[in-house]
Amino acid sequence: MRIVTTRAELAAARAEATPLALVPTMGFLHEGHLSLVRRAKADHGTVAVSVFVNPTQFGPSEDLSTYPRDLARDLDLLADAGVDLVWTPRVEDIYPGGFSTYVDVEGVTDVLEGAERPGHFRGVATVVNILFNAVRPVAAYFGQKDAQQCVVLRKMVRDLAMDVDVVICPTVREADGLAMSSRNAYLDETHRAAATVLIRALRAAESAWAAGETDADALRSRMQTVLAAEPLAQVGYVSIADTDDLREIDAIDPARGALASLAVRVGKPRLIDNLLLTPR
Ligand code: AMP
Repeated sequence: MRIVTTRAELAAARAEATPLALVPTMGFLHEGHLSLVRRAKADHGTVAVSVFVNPTQFGPSEDLSTYPRDLARDLDLLADAGVDLVWTPRVEDIYPGGFSTYVDVEGVTDVLEGAERPGHFRGVATVVNILFNAVRPVAAYFGQKDAQQCVVLRKMVRDLAMDVDVVICPTVREADGLAMSSRNAYLDETHRAAATVLIRALRAAESAWAAGETDADALRSRMQTVLAAEPLAQVGYVSIADTDDLREIDAIDPARGALASLAVRVGKPRLIDNLLLTPR
């Protein structure tokens, strides 16, 4: 496994390893990340992983400075997973002095995460662009855990005619259903137990949908009821939205399904999760 930092080192290593599949990450890796690596490896054979905590996607009052990091452990996990190339850029390798070009994906970034985290998706779209241009992957792998990010990046790739296959992989969960996340490291024992409220709320909506409920407000209420019973949960948003444009919907078209999603602060971390209400 080659580990590179500068763009020049990356360019040299990339030339020897094509075609490449890319898995972008912010490190502090868990099984969710490794599931993307395994899928990329199975599909393409040669896999690059970037480990970069991207400052432009964090708001001024967010957790950039305390975001969990353990590069030595990450590198061990990536070596075990058979990764070929790891790019661990410094901030100046991604954003050289005088940097002033940003990518704004309009229309799907002003709701949900985008509404609560202004500028977040501008940072995400910009860094993913830079990663794609520097690594030049044939395919890139992302997790359904970040559902809106998937929609935004798919749209960016389509709108800008980028020659990269975007592959979305299922959310990997702990045994009790909590979606794996680097930010789960912030949870103490009490808050870790409370954090299952996200998947419990989503499953309440999912089972009502499966039982025939199509009224989106009824599903939102199901989620709110579960959340209200957990005193440690502070709800950011609860959403039943269209899977393509992410607009809130009134009644779910059974042939289209919907995206159920939520953001909840449980003690320190702000956690997000979602389930696709699949068409029936
Ligand atoms: P992050 O390091 O949090 O930026 O995540 C890097 C990639 O891993 C993103 O595409 C995430 O959507 C994906 N990812 C994070 N957590 C999970 C999970 N529990 N299951 C599947 N993919 C995930």
